[in-house]
Amino acid sequence: MKLNLEEITKELKNKNIRLSHHRLKVLEFLNDNRIHPTVDQIYIQLHKELPTLSKTTVYNSLNALVDAGLVKVLTIEDNETRYDIVTDNHGHFKCESCGKIYDFEINLSSFQSKDLDDFKINNRDIYFKGICPDCIQQ
Ligand SMILES: [Zn+2]
Ligand SMILES: [Zn+2]
Repeated sequence: MKLNLEEITKELKNKNIRLSHHRLKVLEFLNDNRIHPTVDQIYIQLHKELPTLSKTTVYNSLNALVDAGLVKVLTIEDNETRYDIVTDNHGHFKCESCGKIYDFEINLSSFQSKDLDDFKINNRDIYFKGICPDCIQQ
């Protein structure tokens, strides 16, 4: 489900969340570009449209959006942080050839393991790795 900036604003108002213009733009970018971008990718794209935007602002905006529960941090690799707009639970598949991260549908809320009975779970992530169909064809 992709929303436009207006719909995002409305949605946020319903939840009583107020965001600055820059934060909204970052959120809109993530909503329109489901590529799980890095800070650099977001900055490079948004800077074209908003020349006054600094990388620090993008970084701070992302942190605020993560705190608000609107954006999720993906740490599929230790050395890179990627960002994902929060939709319902989904898994991620990283192609080891082209580096693209794909979403896939998975129902993580019904997942149960006896081994975790005594644990408090804050985060449910699932990552697969392999080769995507585009790269297999080459
Ligand atoms: Zn690939
Ligand atoms: Zn995702």
